[in-house]
Amino acid sequence: MSDSANIEFALQDNEEFISQFRDYKLQMIWAKKCTKCGSGTNLHMLNFGGFAMCCTDRFCGTQMQPYKKCTKCDATSSEYTLRCKNCEVKVLELADIHQQVHDAKKKMKRVSRSYSCGKITLKEKEKIHAECKEIKKRCKASLKTFIL
Ligand SMILES: [Zn+2]
Ligand SMILES: [Zn+2]
Repeated sequence: MSDSANIEFALQDNEEFISQFRDYKLQMIWAKKCTKCGSGTNLHMLNFGGFAMCCTDRFCGTQMQPYKKCTKCDATSSEYTLRCKNCEVKVLELADIHQQVHDAKKKMKRVSRSYSCGKITLKEKEKIHAECKEIKKRCKASLKTFIL
């Protein structure tokens, strides 16, 4: 994908549309055992806001911040991360392909309407329709490369 760098930019106002292609979730992981001594943990409210898991052994007392884990690729990230940086690339590419198909269909309808109103010639209509069909064909082909 040569223009994948532009995809995020083009789609950034279209969160609702994109979200239907998001096939992963970021799960918050809370430590059930102390990573230092192996004791149990308790949920602990932090003074500056937020929560952490705290070792129940009062001599250890290690605090463990929750973190996030992707349900699809298992990548871990900070608790404040909103998107998996691995999986989001594919989501955006997929959304972009669907957007292109959608746009091509819309354009074909618009052009058909212009033709029936006598604004464009049959030749012009057919030329644009052929272009749109080509886009749809290309998109279908690239969708096949997405194995989810
Ligand atoms: Zn501990
Ligand atoms: Zn992921």
